[in-house]
Amino acid sequence: MPIQSVNPANGEVLRSFAPLTEEGALEKIGLAEVALSHYADVPLSHRALCMRKLSQLLEHEIGELASMITLEMGKPVASARAEILKCAGVCRYYAEHAARILAPELIDTESGDASVRWEPIGIVLAVMPWNFPFWQVFRFLAPALMAGNVGLLKHASNVPQCALAIEALVRRAGFPRGTFQTLLIEASQVEKVLADERIAAVTVTGSEAAGRAIAAQAGWMVKKSVLELGGSDPFIVMPSADLDVAVKAAVRARCINSGQSCIAAKRFIVADSIYDDFEGRFVAGMEAMKIGDPNLDDTEIGPMATAAQLDELDAQVRVAVEAGARVLTGGERMLGKGNYYEPTVLAGVPRTCPVYREEIFGPVAMLFRVRDVDEAIAVANDTPFGLAASVWTRNGAEQRRFISGLQCGGVFVNEIVASDARLPFGGTKRSGYGRELSAAGMREFLNAKTVLIAEDAVAEQPVADQSKLSPDQLIRAAALSSIEHGRAPFRDFLAAAESPAE
Ligand code: NAP
Repeated sequence: MPIQSVNPANGEVLRSFAPLTEEGALEKIGLAEVALSHYADVPLSHRALCMRKLSQLLEHEIGELASMITLEMGKPVASARAEILKCAGVCRYYAEHAARILAPELIDTESGDASVRWEPIGIVLAVMPWNFPFWQVFRFLAPALMAGNVGLLKHASNVPQCALAIEALVRRAGFPRGTFQTLLIEASQVEKVLADERIAAVTVTGSEAAGRAIAAQAGWMVKKSVLELGGSDPFIVMPSADLDVAVKAAVRARCINSGQSCIAAKRFIVADSIYDDFEGRFVAGMEAMKIGDPNLDDTEIGPMATAAQLDELDAQVRVAVEAGARVLTGGERMLGKGNYYEPTVLAGVPRTCPVYREEIFGPVAMLFRVRDVDEAIAVANDTPFGLAASVWTRNGAEQRRFISGLQCGGVFVNEIVASDARLPFGGTKRSGYGRELSAAGMREFLNAKTVLIAEDAVAEQPVADQSKLSPDQLIRAAALSSIEHGRAPFRDFLAAAESPAE
């Protein structure tokens, strides 16, 4: 079957690509293997230069790249531009901070001086979704490439143009040939690629079904995997919250990316005493969202990315209504061309209805009324997912109870959930395992190599002139120096490594 780029705003087929043959995929893996053998020797400072160049290319070509996102998956163009800027930011972040994250850790032991060295794991396969077609890829790509890994991307089948554009940008930024390649393959071809012994690890961002299938194979083959899967994040509002701010945030949190975000708030859990007020204002806020042509700057909700996505959303609302849920607004597909769905609010979805426990990937919110903090935490945790939670309360004691009681990868208090290059991102339960972003994310695909040098075996090292060393040499020198002289010189070397001359 051809891999097609279809405009979700009108159903027009934009481009078709023949999937890569098995030989074609093998050729690309071979190229990645060759790249890996040279790339480990490319100094960190040079990788950082390429990463900064990549960030500049994204910024310079933002208009064209954002339009491509809008055309392929229907994201409103203002959000598409924000996505490209976020990618430029993550490239800069890792160009600046990789030296610190990759610096060896020093541990004193009674046998001698020990250290942990962070080494690249090898070729990592990235299986990615369409909802943030650039950001999802860049938040893997930037730390992986800075660490010396090599990447192969199997992007979602509906965003082939974005996938090819990313490969071309990386190459134009100066990264060696084969360092990051796109494989235009179907989901059914992933198994063969992952089975290749040259692939060291896999990262999956997508549905639970995809994660389960790929992780099962990776586990069987004893390959490292990271899973960033679905979510049904709670948005909890308590009586002490500033309701004006909380309602605006709630609408934004549900409608981000036209509702197609893993960390979009999906279940709104509101304290009894403010429930009616919240419900009225939230419904009004959802009704006021501007839905339409994603190419217009002021459009807030675009079409669902695919016709299948729209069908699934529609079916979920119908199942919920048949089970007894009340539709407070919306509840229908929109007439005419394109995959549009009305912003919808459901109340009273019974616990026995399958939709109660599913992820709803579109602008459809479920409201729940609760008595107190205990019931709010119980309802919030009553889900197979555990990505993140947004909690709105100005009461310190309540904040502490939510922070410790919620079973998820992140709790955001009086703020909506968002990813940030500096913070670990990932979930618990069936939202997956492992982390992306921050030092924790970068280290997922690194070998933590333990080195112990027995006391009488510590070799004499010449004292280096720091000003003549590259950041890579500085980091190595830092480790050796601290083995010899303790921790203080290590900090000096590290400071110099973080502010390279170029
Ligand atoms: P999806 O259908 O699982 O697809 C994701 C990727 O996996 C695509 O490249 C897809 O390829 C591939 N794939 C699907 N089934 C596969 C299989 N059995 N074997 C190998 N590869 C397979 O998910 P989606 O509809 O694109 O994305 C929406 C989902 O992603 C939602 O559940 C959302 O919550 C989740 N998500 C999670 C995060 C996070 O960070 N936790 C972020 C964004 C999205 P094809 O396109 O060719 O099918």
